[in-house]
Amino acid sequence: MESFLGTGIDSSLTFAKFVHLTAPNSVEKSEEEWRAILSPEQFRIVRQKSTEPRGTGEYDKFYDEGIYNCTGCGTPLYKSTTKFDSGCGWPAFFEGLPGAINRTPDPDGRRTEITCAACGGHLGHVFKGEGFKTPTDERHRVNSVSVKFVPANSSASL
Ligand SMILES: [Zn+2]
Repeated sequence: MESFLGTGIDSSLTFAKFVHLTAPNSVEKSEEEWRAILSPEQFRIVRQKSTEPRGTGEYDKFYDEGIYNCTGCGTPLYKSTTKFDSGCGWPAFFEGLPGAINRTPDPDGRRTEITCAACGGHLGHVFKGEGFKTPTDERHRVNSVSVKFVPANSSASL
């Protein structure tokens, strides 16, 4: 496979190459490759596991019908029908699409990180048993930067 290093801005071509590869761990890139296709803010959150400031996310108070895809690799992660208003200041979902999301305990053992199963991109954290009136009683607290919304009536990207 040819390297993307030194090819400049060619993100549309790069994206097209792997957008349909959604099997677990199917998207592997070097730090340089990620930097080439992600904005500095996206890179900081998705690859370096940072968190967007509370209440600032583009999807915090956003409830249109559609699908949320991974910012890094385009894999569908959440349906809008599983999004709910937790009041926490970040987008919250009670369930991810089957097999799309991995869970890993944080090094300090206090929280559980959620990542895109295909590319390992950081999404946020998942919390259980908080008493929200949802089918799962789970809250996937996801950075808006980590996902890209695709409207239900859009035929593109789906
Ligand atoms: Zn991904």
